[in-house]
Amino acid sequence: MATGWGSLLQDERQLEELARQAVDRALAEGVLLRTSQEPSSSNVVSYAPFTLFPSLVPSALLEQAYAVQMDFNLLVDAVSQNAAFLEQTLSSTIKRDDYTARLFDIHKQVLKEGIAQTVFLGLNRSDYMFQHNADGSPALKQIEINTISASFGGLASRTPAVHRHVLNVLSKTKEAAKILSNNPSEGLALGIAKAWELYGSANALVLLIAQEKERNIFDQRAIENELLARNIHVIRRRFEDVFEKGSLDQDRRLFMDGQEVAVVYFRDGYMPSQYSQQNWEARLLLERSCAVKCPDIATQLAGTKKVQQELSRVGMLEVLLPGQPQAVARLRATFAGLYSLDMGEEGDQAIAKALAAPSRFVLKPQREGGGNNLYGEEMVQALEQLKDSEERASYILMEKIEPEPFGNCLLRPGSPTRVDQCISELGIFGVYVRQGKTLVMNKHVGHLLRTKAIVHADGGVAAGVAVLDNPYPV
Ligand code: ADP
Ligand code: MG
Repeated sequence: MATGWGSLLQDERQLEELARQAVDRALAEGVLLRTSQEPSSSNVVSYAPFTLFPSLVPSALLEQAYAVQMDFNLLVDAVSQNAAFLEQTLSSTIKRDDYTARLFDIHKQVLKEGIAQTVFLGLNRSDYMFQHNADGSPALKQIEINTISASFGGLASRTPAVHRHVLNVLSKTKEAAKILSNNPSEGLALGIAKAWELYGSANALVLLIAQEKERNIFDQRAIENELLARNIHVIRRRFEDVFEKGSLDQDRRLFMDGQEVAVVYFRDGYMPSQYSQQNWEARLLLERSCAVKCPDIATQLAGTKKVQQELSRVGMLEVLLPGQPQAVARLRATFAGLYSLDMGEEGDQAIAKALAAPSRFVLKPQREGGGNNLYGEEMVQALEQLKDSEERASYILMEKIEPEPFGNCLLRPGSPTRVDQCISELGIFGVYVRQGKTLVMNKHVGHLLRTKAIVHADGGVAAGVAVLDNPYPV
């Protein structure tokens, strides 16, 4: 497969001029982040890092990723409604992982009290890498699915114009026209709008649970703007504000500062450091309410790595999606090797395999947000340490995907323009809305391509490792 832009990457002076043009266009388009120095203010902002050129992606794999997205929506929704599956799957993990255990506690409490929420909204992003097979062909392999705070739909809606600009500067108008249009922020907003409408209270608001320090605010604003254009008002509040000022009435309707909330959209609350005791209490209050949570606690749990690993067991998809053999086949085709590390023979064998060939595996804890996985020597040390303790059940082992590297320039504020060897990760945004037992919306709403230098094993855009990109279909 052709992998790159060839001779264009050789001419350093041309790259620098192109980079200047690209950065100015990115700023003009709103491909923005707040700075690490001032993460709570928009006084000074910068461009979000991105690639100078769009990266080549096989059209067939793009189409495959789009085609399986509705299946993933159905699967996540099915898992979230299957309390027995969640309980069984997470039973060993929650004994050893306090964070997952606390989420699970809330899930149990809500189930015991009875779920007041009747409309369910999923905004997720399924991420893939392109495995480079021995015969040279690429294969789409899922890395994970994000069911909470799946980000960059807003900025990804604005990057196609930047890459078209770069190609147009080079008089590559035919190539520029091949960059796909992409508007996930609109699709995500339409999902929220549908949930808001079904909640059925014209004056109710959307409550976005925000972090105090949020560099990625423009990504979120893109969705807020789409909602406001549809006359749906969004308020941004922190968990601390919910703790202080949130309340439920007799019917468990949620009120914030005296205003009714129809939809709670979490852009916080996906990692342990984001929860103080008060924040846990605020989360419980939100979960107990009849407002539409995106995601509700069960859907967040459905996105854990332990669930991902259990879904890959032979026969599991068939149980969760009965009578849908084609969906099952599409889903299974994207699964990489996933292995349980629960105590017992199966886990022992997985550990032995990883220790025998460390470069072929990744060790993953139940965490989100990048930078938590272990590779190579670090993985070996961790496995040696964990292997005789029940703590190992809080991790899963995954086959390491090895894409074929290609050259591109990663543009970052303050960094020189230079060509790096890179690999990409493709995300597809999925949206679904369910009212009671009836699915009223199920669709894909766009994509995100992120690219990073191969020297980094882990980490996304927020972690400062990957940068925004666009697929150039070939
Ligand atoms: P997180 O929830 O922290 O985003 P991920 O499972 O997405 O966790 O892993 C973070 C990053 O690590 C990914 O974006 C990818 O770059 C890398 N990674 C994860 N799993 C694999 C894998 N199986 N093979 C190769 N790289 C991986
Ligand atoms: Mg990830």
